[in-house]
Amino acid sequence: MSTTLINPADETVLGTVDAFSVEQADEAIARAAAAQRNWAALAPAERGAALRRFATAVDGAVEELAQLEVRNSGHPIGSARWEAGHVRDVLNYYAAAPERLLGKQIPVAGGIDVTFLEPLGVVGVIVPWNFPMTIASWGFAPALAAGNAVVLKPAEWTPLTAIRLAELGRESGLPEHLFQVLPGRGAVVGERFVTSELVKKIVFTGSTAVGKRVMAGCAAQVKPVTLELGGKSANLVFADSDLELAAATAPSAVFDNAGQDCCARSRILVERSVYDRFLELLEPAVKAVRVGQPADEATEMGPLVSRRHFDSVQSFLDEDARIAFQGSAPAGPGFWMPPTVLLPASRSDRVVTEEIFGPVVSVLPFDDEADAIALANSSIYGLSGSIFTRDLGRALRVARAVESGNLSVNSHSSVRYSTPFGGFKQSGLGRELGPDASEAFTETKNVFFASS
Ligand code: NAD
Repeated sequence: MSTTLINPADETVLGTVDAFSVEQADEAIARAAAAQRNWAALAPAERGAALRRFATAVDGAVEELAQLEVRNSGHPIGSARWEAGHVRDVLNYYAAAPERLLGKQIPVAGGIDVTFLEPLGVVGVIVPWNFPMTIASWGFAPALAAGNAVVLKPAEWTPLTAIRLAELGRESGLPEHLFQVLPGRGAVVGERFVTSELVKKIVFTGSTAVGKRVMAGCAAQVKPVTLELGGKSANLVFADSDLELAAATAPSAVFDNAGQDCCARSRILVERSVYDRFLELLEPAVKAVRVGQPADEATEMGPLVSRRHFDSVQSFLDEDARIAFQGSAPAGPGFWMPPTVLLPASRSDRVVTEEIFGPVVSVLPFDDEADAIALANSSIYGLSGSIFTRDLGRALRVARAVESGNLSVNSHSSVRYSTPFGGFKQSGLGRELGPDASEAFTETKNVFFASS
């Protein structure tokens, strides 16, 4: 079986990619298990050096990877270059981890007690289509650093950069079969990762619905699982904030990657006394977003990833949309949708509660700090969020009260490779990135040495 890949900007056929069967997945997993034993036996400094060489190979291929993502995923070229550079940085960051995975010596009577952080074996990484390179690296880099092998399943529509990354790993000298990319269907290759006894941990990034299924599958073997799932993040704008700054930055916080971003601030919550003024400032900022061909250096927002996803986003607008204003978008061919601002009738509208994953944002008023917190938390999700205020005390109170894994004050920062990333509630389980990520790919072993 194979998958036909479509360029989302013009609907031309890019080519086909073979989809792995269950049998082929099993063979790849077995080869990974064999490669892992030698990799784990290497001196930590040698594993680190291998990851640094991999990072150097990625650095040399930033433009090539970026151009692939432009064609396969419709990402604007500037964003795609940042994504490829981020993969290099993630690899360099975790290249230091093998020598920093420290066990403990624990005081006990009658001898010494020592903990070892043992690699797990083969790790299965399952990634979505919205950021195919970066999200892949958040799994494979810390997992490899901790002495594991990795099998990675890219999303059906966007496998090209992950395939190239695995090639770059090999070209840079990573042992054969240590890091393999297996394109294929979720229900075939993804599920096989979950059910295979040789795969010792799953890192899943994708929708909450599939994440629950993966978690249930892992339960059968008590297999550890990290889940990075959906979001419906709030951008809280208080009356005492720099309103110009809040309005100028709100569009990129939700329309980046055409809103196909788990961290998208897709609910803008504004204190009632400045609600009308905020909308006046927001309208020109939304209309100024440059939507256009991904290969064009000036483009800020490209198309949606596929026809199927376009239809899914459009269904929200067809249903109960109260569109306040929209930006522009090319006519087509391609899966183009303009940046769209909604003023929902009620806090319980589907556009307010569900993840749309497109360039659509709802703006809602709130009455006071308590109401703002309650509205921000009235979601099954809790991934990201922003707080705009000049009151430091309020910023701290609200940041502590919002049930979300990643918050930023007077900015929209979500992802840094050196800080932990992940969700509260149904946005996920566990954390990626940051100084502790490699440890999440180990088992702690405790050994007691009797002194007599
Ligand atoms: P999806 O859940 O449909 O697919 C994600 C991956 O899972 C794909 O590779 C898919 O092939 C695979 N898959 C599908 N069925 C499977 C099964 N039964 N067993 C194992 N694997 C299976 O998600 P998507 O549409 O590709 O991505 C969009 C979603 O991802 C959004 O909900 C978004 O919020 C979420 N996301 C979350 C984060 C985060 O870090 N929290 C980051 C990016 C995207």
